[in-house]
This record gives sequence, structure tokens and C-alpha cells, in this order.
Amino acid sequence: MNESQAIRRANTWKAISILLGGLTLGLVVALVLAIYIMQAPSGDLQGLLWFLLSSSVPSLLVGYLVFSVGRRRLHSIRAKVLLAYSLGIVIALINIFVTSQLMFVSQHDFLLLGLLLIFAGILSASFGYLLAARMTRSLGQLQDAAQEIAAGNLLTRVRLVEKDELFEVAEAFNRMADELEQAFSRQKAMEQARRDLIAAVSHDLRTPLASIRAMVEAMDDGLVDDPATVRRYYRTIHAQIDNLSGLINDLFELSRLDVEQVQLRLEPVNLNDLVSDVLEAMQVQARQKEILLEGHFAGDLPPVTADIARIQRVLYNLVQNALQYTPAGGRVSLTVRPAETGVQVEVTDSGEGIPPEDLPHVFDRFFRGDKSRSRATGGAGLGLAIAKRIVEAHGGRIWVESRPGQGTRFGFYLPAVPA
Ligand code: ADP
Repeated sequence: MNESQAIRRANTWKAISILLGGLTLGLVVALVLAIYIMQAPSGDLQGLLWFLLSSSVPSLLVGYLVFSVGRRRLHSIRAKVLLAYSLGIVIALINIFVTSQLMFVSQHDFLLLGLLLIFAGILSASFGYLLAARMTRSLGQLQDAAQEIAAGNLLTRVRLVEKDELFEVAEAFNRMADELEQAFSRQKAMEQARRDLIAAVSHDLRTPLASIRAMVEAMDDGLVDDPATVRRYYRTIHAQIDNLSGLINDLFELSRLDVEQVQLRLEPVNLNDLVSDVLEAMQVQARQKEILLEGHFAGDLPPVTADIARIQRVLYNLVQNALQYTPAGGRVSLTVRPAETGVQVEVTDSGEGIPPEDLPHVFDRFFRGDKSRSRATGGAGLGLAIAKRIVEAHGGRIWVESRPGQGTRFGFYLPAVPA
């Protein structure tokens, strides 16, 4: 038995149980009325029960057959509701006719009863029609909205007033439209970010390549031949090539972090050790720039789970920036301290600071402050973006505070090894 057959069978059983439920309820109501209102003697009650049973079973069977054929043939809810009402009236008329024959009710009384029944039936059928028309209208609204969404108008929503099952369908439809709209705007933002990235990458690749080409051509054409200038050109070309390969490595690292291909080599690490290694390694650069580079360590530190090489990379990026944006005579300090359920590291400098309007963007890829853009030594604006991705891949957080003219503090938090 395939799935649709199983569904059809389940529906048939459901319909039969509803009809049998209706029959039982009808019998109970008729008997209760006969007992309490008509005060019928028990012999009459038995007769009534027999009569109701023998008339209702064939009525239900015939009714059900007509109803199921009609349901398949009729293609509107209104027509189906009218069919159900008409069936009810016809069944009632047949019952009355049989009763009238058995009870020898006069032809006149039977016709009068039938007439009243038809009148009541038509009245209630018109209520049924009204109800079906409302449902059809709500369904029409849902259908129109679905067509609008399919045509790309994702702001379309369905507003129904009456609170019933169709109202719930409309609510579910609106929720789906909300999700679709959000997914679409996320996709648009990603598309824009991708375009910006390609523009930034091509700019950052094109500029050094153009200057390398100009220098090589100048030497090739013999425009530059004095040994000192040629040596200077070679040194510049070398530096540009270093920049380019740094940029390509950074891009590669970022794209790997993005698609979460990277497998972090996690192990328990004491951040005091890691930070003091980086401090040691950066001392030469700090001394050359006449900047005081110092560390403050916490005595009792829980170990964190970290990929040593990658957290080192974060620290190098932060300290490198601090040294780069701090003038001679300034100070850069690294502080390690326990925080919440992990460890926090701060890199504080006494440098130029970051303008408030730049602060929300410093972790964006290819973001460079105005000053950094005009400076020849500035990086590509990927260092902090990489640091953020690495810290977040560790389940941590990274942040920045800065006051222009007074200095900047970058901090990051890594969760401790679970106890
Ligand atoms: P870059 O390669 O330009 O240093 P980063 O992603 O490391 O790129 O930094 C982005 C921008 O953030 C820098 O161009 C600079 O404007 C700003 N910035 C980062 N660190 C500091 C700092 N310690 N002091 C002042 N500005 C900073």
C-alpha cells in the first residue's frame, strides 16, 4: 500500500467514525427528547429506536456514497457545503415520509411538515453558503499572497480577521514570508559583501603590481641605470612582493576560517606563557620604535582550550597594530587576567586612538582608517578581521575601546577548559 492509498484509507475511516458519532448523538438526543418531553412509554421508545436505526443506516450509506462522489466531482467549497445541506434535507424528508406512512399521518400533514422542513433547510443552507463564501474569500487572499511571493514581492502578508484554522494558516504563511524576506536580505548583504571583497582584493593586488611593473619597465628600458637607484628599486620590489604574498596568505586564511574548513588544534594552554612569548618576540621591534612594551600577568590563571599558533597570530596582530599606531616614547602593555569562566587578554597602547565613527568597522575586512590608508606601511585591513574570526572560532569574544589622542585598548576573552 503506497502512501496516498494509506492517507485515503485513513480519511475514509475518519469520515465513517464522524458519521457513526453523529448517528449515536442523534439517537441519544431523540431518545432523551422522547423520554423527557414526550413522556413516551417504553414500548413506543423501543419502536422509535428500531425505526430510527432502520431508517438511519440506509440513509447514512446512501448519503455517504452521494457525498463522496459529489466531493470528488465538485470543485468548490461552496458547492460541497450546499451538497451536504441538501443531503441532510433529503434524508430528513425520506425519514418523515416513511414515518408518515407507518403512522398513517394524513397526506396534508406530511406535505406541511415537508414544506416546513424544506424552508428550514434552505435557510440553514444559506448560512452554510455564507460560511463557505467567507472561507473561500480567505483562501483567495492566501492564494493571491502566495502568488505575490512567488512573483518576488516578499513584503506581502495575509491579514485575516476571524480567528479560526484559516487564521492559523495565514499566521503560518506570514511567518514563512518573514523567514523568506530575512533569508533574502541576508543573501543580498552577502552578495554585496562578496562584491566589495572582490573590489578591495583587486585594488590591493593591482596597486603593488602596477608599481612593480613600472619599476621593472623603467629598468628594462634603461631609464634607470645608476646602481643606487636600481638597488632602491629592487628593495621596493622586494617589499611589494612581500606585501602581496602577505595579502594572499591573509586572504587564504580568512576564506578557510569563513568556510570553517580549519581544524583548530585545540589543547589546554596557559595564556601567561603565550603572551610572554609574544612580548619577548616583539621587544626588538618595540625598542626600534622607542616604545615601552610591558606585560602584566595574573598569578592564578585557569588554562584555556586554544590553538596555540592561531592565538599567537591574534596577539601578534594586536601588538603589531599597537606598535604601529603609537608614536615613539609611547607605551604598549599586555595584561592577562581571569574573567568570568575564562581568561581575558588586553593590549593597551598610548597611541593616536581610533575615531568613534571608525570603531564599529575596525573588525571589518579591508577596513583601514583614513590615516592608515594614506600611510605606505599600512596593512591590507585584514589583520583584525582574521583575529575576530579566530577568537570566535574558539568560542570567545573580541572588542575594542578607544579615545582619540589617548590610546586604544583591544581585548579578547577565551573560555577556560571545562572543569
Ligand atoms: P591594518 O592592516 O590596516 O592594520 P587591521 O585590520 O589590523 O588592518 O586594522 C584595521 C584598522 O584599524 C587600521 O587601519 C587602523 O585604522 C585601525 N587600528 C587598528 N589597531 C589600531 C590601534 N592600536 N590604534 C589605532 N588604530 C588602530
